[in-house]
Formats: sequence, C-alpha cells, structure tokens
Amino acid sequence: MVDTFLNGDYYNGAEARVSIEDRGFLFGDGIYEVIRFYHGSFFELGQHLSRLARSARKTYLDLPNSLEQIDSICHELLKKSGIKEGKLYLQVTRGAAPRTHEFPVQSEPTIMMKISKVDEEEQKKKKKGVSAITVPDDRWSNCDIKSLNLLPNVLAKQKARSQGYYEAIFVFSEKITEGASSNVFAVLDGVLVTAPECNRILSGITRNVVLELASQVGIPWEEKFVSNDDLYRASELFITSTVDEITPILSIDGQTLNGSAVGKVSAKIQNRFQQKVSQLG
Ligand code: PMP
Repeated sequence: MVDTFLNGDYYNGAEARVSIEDRGFLFGDGIYEVIRFYHGSFFELGQHLSRLARSARKTYLDLPNSLEQIDSICHELLKKSGIKEGKLYLQVTRGAAPRTHEFPVQSEPTIMMKISKVDEEEQKKKKKGVSAITVPDDRWSNCDIKSLNLLPNVLAKQKARSQGYYEAIFVFSEKITEGASSNVFAVLDGVLVTAPECNRILSGITRNVVLELASQVGIPWEEKFVSNDDLYRASELFITSTVDEITPILSIDGQTLNGSAVGKVSAKIQNRFQQKVSQLG
C-alpha cells in the first residue's frame, strides 16, 4: 500500500530510506505537523501548513516545496493510500550533510509524509475521559515552534503512561502551560480558560477551533494562564489536539474532577466539534 512520500517519490512506507547523516536523525534539526482527515477530507489543512511555514521561518529552514505544492502532495498521498479515516504525519529536516552543529553550506531539506489509520475504538473511548498528572515544564523557551526536539515531551508522556495516566500536564513557574502533546483547557467560574499564545506553548490548531466553537455557542472564554492551584478547583478540564480532539480529564494528580463525569461545557464543545467534522467529505 502506498502510504509514504519522501523527497518527490511515493512509497510503501517500509521501503522509504533516508541517510544516517540526515540532520533530523542526528540533531532533531527539523519541524513537523500532524494533520487529521475524516471521511477522506483534511481537517484545517490550511492552518497546519501556515504553522509549518511559521516553524520553518523560525528555524531558518527552507521548505523544499511551496505550500501549494505541499498541499497537493498531501491530497495525492491521501488518494493513493485509499484510507478515509486517519492522520498524515509531515516532517521536514535540514537534510543530510557531514555532522557539524552549524548549518551545512550545502544540503537539500528532506521532506517526508506518512499516512496512517486512527483507531476508532480508541478515539471513542477517550471521549469519555482520561486521567492526567502534572510534571515540571523543563522545556526550552521556543515551544511555539513545532520542532522535532521532543525529548522532554517524550519523557513527560512516558512518566504519565508508566504510572497509568493518559497525559502529563506541564507546570512552569506555578502556571499550567500545556500537555506533553496537547493544549489544556479549564472551566473556572463558568469561564473557559486556556494559556495565551506565547513561546511557552504550541498554538494548537484544535485549540483555535475550540475557541471558535466556544464563541459560536456562547461559552465565555479567556486566554490566561491557569495556576497550579486553579487546576484542582476547576469544574471541568479537557485537553485538545489533532489526535486527541477534545478529551476530558476526569482526574488530575489522583484528584477527581466533576464527580468523574464529562462536564457540560466539555460535552457541548465535543458535540460542536463532531458536527464540524461531520460536514467534511
Ligand atoms: N501542544 C503540544 C506540545 C503538542 O505536541 C500538540 C500536538 N501536536 C498540541 C499542543 C496540540 O496541537 P494541535 O491541536 O495542532 O494538534
């Protein structure tokens, strides 16, 4: 099955090869996006490609193709794969060159895309709620770049999973920044609150969609940091991401929220999100 694109060619993923000198492999010197598609149509592809361009600019990486060309390749790969419900992983690195920290004088960026199915049962299960723990946010101060350097996120997620929790929520200077691979929303005194766009969080596409949906249904919202303490007194908590969509958090650091039930605001947003998705295809 064709599910992969690499530097101009389409492959069955298992056959695609990159150099051991690729700077993505050596340094994590690259950027990425994860894009969902539903019923054979991409969800917010334009926003993902704009963010890719922003990450490229901030890392001085020349994209090997225009955004229009990348858009067409995404569509072509999706068509070739024949998959209708899934996600596309897109990665661009600074390419292969003898290993030096500074940018190589000459290198062609590597562009790769891979399509995979999502586990629909798993998706349904998550919507009923998961648990999370807080962990210190020991990342760098450029979290707005969707960079391949994810070791702190990987370690945080592994800490959560190894203890039976779904997500790790980062705390920086007693403020909630985001999840290991998600943005965090809390309902505090009836207001939906999430961290402001800044260098401490990745500005999630799902986050943007949720704020838009909240406005549409008249849920008041505010972009401000939720304090560590507020997290425990929130009436509702949920995380958002391309893969997690809107996933309620029903317990945080072992403390139950909202009697372990999905809250009204979360359910309303989940519903509207589902409606938006069902319009695709
Ligand atoms: N923050 C981090 C650290 C992430 O890895 C992700 C998922 N890529 C998000 C937020 C959510 O972003 P999006 O909604 O665009 O998937």
